[in-house]
Amino acid sequence: MSDSFLEREQSYFFHTYKRLTLDIVRGEGCYLFDRAGKRYVDFFGGLAVNALGYKHPGINNAIRRQIDLYNHLSNFFVQETQVLLAEKLIKLTGLKKLFFTNSGTEAVEGALKLARKWAKGRGKTDIFGLSNSFHGRTMGALSLTERAKYREGYEPFVPNIRHIKFNDVQDLRANVGPKTIGVFLEFIQGEGGVNVVSSEFAKELNALRKQHDFLIIADEIQCGIGRTGRFFGFEHFGVQPDIVIIAKALGGGLPLGAFLGTEKVSDVFTYGVHGTTFGGNPVACAAGLAVLEEIVDRGLMKVASERGEQLRGLFTKLGGEFPDRIREVRGFGCMMGIDLHKEGQSLADELQNRGFLVNCTNTTVIRLLPPYTIPAEECDRLVQEIRTIWKESPSK
Ligand code: PLP
Repeated sequence: MSDSFLEREQSYFFHTYKRLTLDIVRGEGCYLFDRAGKRYVDFFGGLAVNALGYKHPGINNAIRRQIDLYNHLSNFFVQETQVLLAEKLIKLTGLKKLFFTNSGTEAVEGALKLARKWAKGRGKTDIFGLSNSFHGRTMGALSLTERAKYREGYEPFVPNIRHIKFNDVQDLRANVGPKTIGVFLEFIQGEGGVNVVSSEFAKELNALRKQHDFLIIADEIQCGIGRTGRFFGFEHFGVQPDIVIIAKALGGGLPLGAFLGTEKVSDVFTYGVHGTTFGGNPVACAAGLAVLEEIVDRGLMKVASERGEQLRGLFTKLGGEFPDRIREVRGFGCMMGIDLHKEGQSLADELQNRGFLVNCTNTTVIRLLPPYTIPAEECDRLVQEIRTIWKESPSK
């Protein structure tokens, strides 16, 4: 990155981001290129947004087609790409109603409002998130988020939101009851380090919902849209949530999110009770249609699943060779977490030097969120590169 850009970034922005020291000028497929022409294999994936990689002709053509018609009308108008995308999502998922937003956190806010309105007149007051969760940065989503690093200094939070210990069935039983409105959860926690809900916890949650009639609200923002090899991450757990929240990969790189509900909540919202200016932007929805056509209609979920199996196999083998390095390999499809015995940022930095981009989250977890189109050879090369690094430089 040229010094002047770094300096200008430092002087103009609130310092909320620790940016990578890269000057990326373009992307193609699963590769990014810097100003000097160096190529990087992208296992970072725009933090789970770039499911189809870069410069995807289907997405780009859909965007071009729509911007030649109109960029914005407002939600006073029926808009063709919005309706087509809604129809595709509803038919695909079997859910009954949806609302489009611009981002993940807004979709969480909307889901929170939907849950609260559903609860009116039912004598219910309490909403739960899980420990180690991440649901976004706006105040409602932050109240559901449990990790202190995101919450500190922003108190007070939205009232009547508490947290249940992740995968702790006893704690779940001790907390939920007739006063419970709902439980928000990521079935596969992303920012928290690719932690997977246990089948015991999922089963108990399902049983308790039957007993107490609350809502299960799945945050699929990171693990949804086919990333784990199934359209929704929760499909691995045999639970049907009442509300499902999506974003990230949905818009093909443009800002788009949604929350969807089953029959149980389909009549809760009425005219004027919720709204947005930009949510469901027609250009973003056009891109979203292209994303779903590619992922669902052209069989990319199966490919994502195969890459996940491959990565799991490769990293499990690597863990056998370096048992003092790898603690655990977690996840599904193109959402894998390699939990290390020490901090992972120095490995991520060294991989960047060698032309591979990975993200380190929750201190020790190397998180892989590649495009579903990542070639199998690049997965082989990534693991071989880590093997080489660990052989050459024991400190990394
Ligand atoms: N929920 C989950 C599981 C996420 O991973 C994220 C973002 O990383 C969010 C919510 C917030 O989404 P956004 O950053 O689009 O507001």
